[in-house]
Amino acid sequence: MRAASHAPPSFLMCMKKVFIQTYGCQMNLADSEEMFAHLSARGYQRTDDLDEADAVLINTCTVRDHAEHKAVSFLGRLAAWKKERAGRRIIFAGCAAQRLGKALQKKYPFLDILSGAKGIEHFSDTLDKSGLFGPQTSQGEILPPGLTGYVTIMRGCNFACTYCIVPNVRGPVKCLPQEDILQEVRRKAAAGAKEIMLLGQTVNAYQDGATTFADLLNKTSEIPGVVRVGFTSPHPVYFTLQFLSAIKDNPKIARHLHMPAQSGSTKVLREMKRGYTREILLEKIKALQAAGFFISTDLIVGFPTETQEDFAQTLSLVDEAGFTTAYCYKYSPRQGTPAAQMKLHSQEILAQRLENLLNKVKGLAEAAYQAQVGTTQEVLFETPDKGRSSGSFWVKTTRTYPVGSTAKLPIEKAVGTLLIARD
Ligand code: SF4
Repeated sequence: MRAASHAPPSFLMCMKKVFIQTYGCQMNLADSEEMFAHLSARGYQRTDDLDEADAVLINTCTVRDHAEHKAVSFLGRLAAWKKERAGRRIIFAGCAAQRLGKALQKKYPFLDILSGAKGIEHFSDTLDKSGLFGPQTSQGEILPPGLTGYVTIMRGCNFACTYCIVPNVRGPVKCLPQEDILQEVRRKAAAGAKEIMLLGQTVNAYQDGATTFADLLNKTSEIPGVVRVGFTSPHPVYFTLQFLSAIKDNPKIARHLHMPAQSGSTKVLREMKRGYTREILLEKIKALQAAGFFISTDLIVGFPTETQEDFAQTLSLVDEAGFTTAYCYKYSPRQGTPAAQMKLHSQEILAQRLENLLNKVKGLAEAAYQAQVGTTQEVLFETPDKGRSSGSFWVKTTRTYPVGSTAKLPIEKAVGTLLIARD
């Protein structure tokens, strides 16, 4: 740990400890790291033991009711924890903090800091204003990245999908300056990251002056030490032909892309305000696949206006699109969104459609793995005998390789969702 490694033992003994609980997406994990750096600059070390913690940071998600509920019930359980020792602090941050706002502080008066998702950039000021965490005494600990370095490049969303709470809690798009992003990539690559994952709510909407998202991907790939560049979560609208032609010849850009379709019915897509039709979506998928990219997706069943015919179109989209994986969800209303005003389907219909869709997507991944047999894949090793290909397929070898190295290997067979290389 940077802040503590050269500190005298007496300083180490009086360091405070923070327990961090993160819910939700990869962006939230990256936000938690950023918030921890500010706490560490005020003398906090990280701990996985709640009992020895002096502070708890809960970074929350509100995309689904369930995630929000889990975070709030964890907060409720901390009432007793806080009473056990004077001076303990609790921070409730992120999307659920933004949505629930001051009502939460009223219900849980022992909560010290409420820091909504829109306020992540001002987290250091929030700590200072509270007067509860002491002054900043160091630059703060920046954890060394693992093999994958996650870099947030934008926050917020300019869409208004009728089922989604994110624009309410995260606000409109704010892109970080490209120089700051590239600096962060250089730092992570110098610290050992081989793969860089760029993060944003609609990550491929990134624009900084004349610099497009494709430009940023290409510049990221040129940084010494970077062997692969990926990103999440993109929006289908920004997968344009210009984007494809700008990245397709760059072998460092991962051949796996996520294309969250959500529905196969143009009518439902319009009612969701997704900004594309089934036909346009399929055109984009086919163009990306023809250029060698593998596509995974997200699908929602039981949107309020989804008829049986609409649902059948989602099933047929799975047949036509050739996804490698599909993450399937039951529609769940989020208070404050337009779709939450609409009449819901019964739980029986939701469950039945989800089951039908899961039956349809079952086997997609295994078929995609099987299709790799006989090809040659560049493997980035995450353990001495296992790594991922650029298309995000797991590959096992018989020989061992240094973790973080890459090797181009012929694929001999597929066993379930594992490719076996001949090496
Ligand atoms: S694009 Fe739509 S689903 Fe994605 S975060 Fe924005 S509003 Fe939500």
